[in-house]
Amino acid sequence: MNKINSVCPYCGAGCKINLCVENGRIIKAEGANGVTNQGELCLKGLYGWDFLNDNKLLTARIHEPMIRRQKGADFEIVSWNEAIQYTAKKLLEIKEKYGAKSIMCTGSSRGTGNETNFVMQKFVRAVLGNNNVDCCARVCHGPSVAGLQETLGNGAMSNSIADIEDSDCLLVFGYNCADSHPIVARRVVKAKQKGAKIIVCDPRKIETAKIANQYLPLKNGTNMALVNAFAYTLIDEDLYDKDYVSRYTEGFEEYKKQLADYSPEAVQDIVGIPAMEIRKAMRTYAGAKTATIMWGMGVTQFGQAVDVVKGLSGLALLTGNLGKPHVGVAPVRGQNNVQGACDMGVLPNMFPGYQYVTDEKTRKKFAQAWNIPVEQLDPEVGYRITEVPHLAIEGKVKAYYIMGEDPLQTEADLGLVRKGFEALDFVVVQDIFMTKTAEQADVILPSTSWGEHAGIFTCADRGFQRFEKAIEPRGNVKRDWEIISLLATEMGYPMSYENNEEIWNEVRALCPLFFGVTYEKLAGLAHIQWPCTDIEDKGTPYLYSGNQFTTPSGKGQLFATPWRAPAELPDADYPMILSTVREVGHYSCRSMTGNCKALASLADEPGYVQVHPDVAKEAGIGDQEIVWVESRRGKVMSRCNVNETINKQAIYMTYQWWIGACNELTQDNLDPVSKTPETKYCAARVIKIEDQ
Ligand code: SF4
Repeated sequence: MNKINSVCPYCGAGCKINLCVENGRIIKAEGANGVTNQGELCLKGLYGWDFLNDNKLLTARIHEPMIRRQKGADFEIVSWNEAIQYTAKKLLEIKEKYGAKSIMCTGSSRGTGNETNFVMQKFVRAVLGNNNVDCCARVCHGPSVAGLQETLGNGAMSNSIADIEDSDCLLVFGYNCADSHPIVARRVVKAKQKGAKIIVCDPRKIETAKIANQYLPLKNGTNMALVNAFAYTLIDEDLYDKDYVSRYTEGFEEYKKQLADYSPEAVQDIVGIPAMEIRKAMRTYAGAKTATIMWGMGVTQFGQAVDVVKGLSGLALLTGNLGKPHVGVAPVRGQNNVQGACDMGVLPNMFPGYQYVTDEKTRKKFAQAWNIPVEQLDPEVGYRITEVPHLAIEGKVKAYYIMGEDPLQTEADLGLVRKGFEALDFVVVQDIFMTKTAEQADVILPSTSWGEHAGIFTCADRGFQRFEKAIEPRGNVKRDWEIISLLATEMGYPMSYENNEEIWNEVRALCPLFFGVTYEKLAGLAHIQWPCTDIEDKGTPYLYSGNQFTTPSGKGQLFATPWRAPAELPDADYPMILSTVREVGHYSCRSMTGNCKALASLADEPGYVQVHPDVAKEAGIGDQEIVWVESRRGKVMSRCNVNETINKQAIYMTYQWWIGACNELTQDNLDPVSKTPETKYCAARVIKIEDQ
């Protein structure tokens, strides 16, 4: 039996795995002693490799390139040559007829690795000639990137996963780590065991709330009001670090003015937390020697998410909890390589290494390296994936090349997304499984999967880690970057790479932040956090050392803004709030975990809706009963999970299930800056089936 060094392909915790291979098949996974997981794995890490056996439980693996020549026709299996030539010809025709901006592409935040994401954004920029490349960061931590870049200068976690357990206080805001990042949750438990104070802000009494010193069950959709009240308290009670604020921050007077109406007493009815509890939380946070703020989708999936992220970073700035060990701001990134996709420039406003597309000097550097005229690089910011349905309906986007994403399952308001897809002329899907989106494609390009290729991922704490190939792929599939290179070459831009390392060295040469991260240094269990700027550099466990922020002025920016209510409030017809949540045993669109026998046997149902016992009683609904859940956009069936840990005003659904997808109900009120949809809040109702 061989043990192959890998990294879990699910969440951003970055757990190192040994894949045990016998006779060319993976037979089990073991936790390796990685920096973030120390030998431990959650359910998904232990059993989530089995989709490689193509169990066909939820959907089948794609083994051959396929073309659908006409809308409504069946797929036809074709050779790679024909698939590449057909796709290249169609894309060139669309570019010629409707202009470069009419084509949109995605990178992938999952098993493809950083090298592939780099090649994809290079294809978009150098071959298509636009910046229309994006990834699922848009629907999760896009607001964290946008908000932190403005206030601190870097859109990533400022600290390390391993360091969380040594903080004296954890303020956990809208983050259910037990379900979304179980191995990070263990660090929270360890912090508690070491004596840390834990404060949890969440409408549901999540697992972390059960071990918290203080639990603040705020009302859904009131994050900004609570964060403002926190900041007000720090200033009002003189709990902030005046010296730090005057030396390392800007904007204090305006910040204070913006907070004037947000005393805890003024907002307690809005947020549903007594003023004294708000004040108590800030006394704990400010009184701790070291404190860390952690957040997740409960902060970012709202129409005012960027403002809240800026507000949370303001609390760290007010108290000097940045730039040293055991402190910081931690937006814990969702997918295993969503940080990496952003690092590699799968963003419409940035080249790899967080270099702006609007900067002429940067464009010149990339144009020279890629051997193209600088005019070929678009100086304008590209489209975001959440804008695609609207842009397609308006006729501005005509072709969509989707790599390793499933927007017809994971995007908000699926009715709108379907309309957008109907308006597109040409859809290319490059994937491993026949996802909901692949079913609607014109061309399918089958790729190798995690386990069948090697590469580098970046986990949530900016740590680069290598994963190796464990088994040979079955079927007529190719590596993602190989497919993109063939397409680029066919479209007139010769592109070829020998291996991952050659691509990675191109990344390093173009990105000063990553230059010191060589393939060699990343061997084995290594975990190197950027910035890592030269060969001797061991990486950066925490950002902003010496309180040097990477904002234009070098100072942290204090920011507060008035709270805005969510876009769609409950009313007489739809009296409940619907919020999306995670399921611990499955991941994202479930195309991988849904095809793993052990995980599917744990939870293979059309999904559940969590309903408070009082609400269920009033509606005459019993636990485990199948019910209708409806919003203004549609209705789906789901199994009722009567659950006393949730609040009475809201119901909660996972978005991983293929039947009864909760995104039929969600709405796409987008944050004006990050364009992230408000999937944590829309009006809904839950109805007993026999009543209809
Ligand atoms: Fe994989 Fe995340 Fe579980 Fe670790 S915590 S094993 S990275 S899913």
